[in-house]
Amino acid sequence: MASEQKSKTAIVTGSGRGIGKSIALRLADDGYDICVNDVPSNQSDADSVVKEIESKGRKAISVLADVSNLSEVEKMVQTSVDKLGPLNIMVANAGIAQVKPLLDLTEEDFRRMFEVNVYGVFNCYSAAARQMIKQESGGKILGAASIVAFKPFPMLSHYSASKWAVRGLTQAFAMEMARHKITVNAYAPGIVGTAMWDLIDEKLGELTGAKKGDTIKKYSGELIALGRTSVPEDVSKVVGFLAGPDSEYVTGQTIVVDGGIIFT
Ligand code: NAD
Repeated sequence: MASEQKSKTAIVTGSGRGIGKSIALRLADDGYDICVNDVPSNQSDADSVVKEIESKGRKAISVLADVSNLSEVEKMVQTSVDKLGPLNIMVANAGIAQVKPLLDLTEEDFRRMFEVNVYGVFNCYSAAARQMIKQESGGKILGAASIVAFKPFPMLSHYSASKWAVRGLTQAFAMEMARHKITVNAYAPGIVGTAMWDLIDEKLGELTGAKKGDTIKKYSGELIALGRTSVPEDVSKVVGFLAGPDSEYVTGQTIVVDGGIIFT
């Protein structure tokens, strides 16, 4: 068995901003040292999240890597282990969205969506699982799904399909990793006010004629039982639970945290 670890570590992909940033800060508050990841164009955001974590008295590093590239993900895991210590949690959070009518989607649109949202999650799940198996002390793997993994949104069809795939991969990994004491779960946010929803709001508005900000307001008012748009902390609180000891008997689940839009 691996020797007793001084401090636990987590990698959070796409954590330069939005939900990933909130998860990174939450896990730092919970006592984890954090490997912050984002793409090179978001380096300054990633670096400022590192500083914020360090100001909480925890260790943090930023590793720029595109999750759709397996060798970059493998290097990220290795760097995290070398600099922070054994890997305990992988949060495959990074994702992209695109608003387009189904019949306007190009092959390239479809390919890029799946490269980031599905291959990206597969790369992170598998690289983390290999590392955790080597360490022989279990671990927790988490991924970002969405409510559209249960009921697609129109104009977000390939995004929705990619999130269904995350739910499927999560179930499959949970079954195969159980014997290594690795649990695998996903979180499914609803409508969270991040840069991603700024884009969705703007693009849906272009298709429907709605003014900027009106679509998210309309969807939030009409769809969310709790009556407000989600903030990243709504999600990171649930991820904190899924990453922590109280969820040790939970695996293969995609936990909806959407203020009551869909019911599973
Ligand atoms: P965001 O766009 O604000 O942040 C995503 C981060 O991921 C960005 O910093 C981006 O640079 C990074 N990223 C994108 N592609 C990457 C890649 N190939 N490699 C590494 N990093 C990459 O989005 P968010 O709203 O914070 O969403 C985070 C996750 O939650 C995504 O997977 C998203 O699909 C999911 N989600 C979001 C919502 C929502 O309402 N915002 C709802 C459901 C699910």
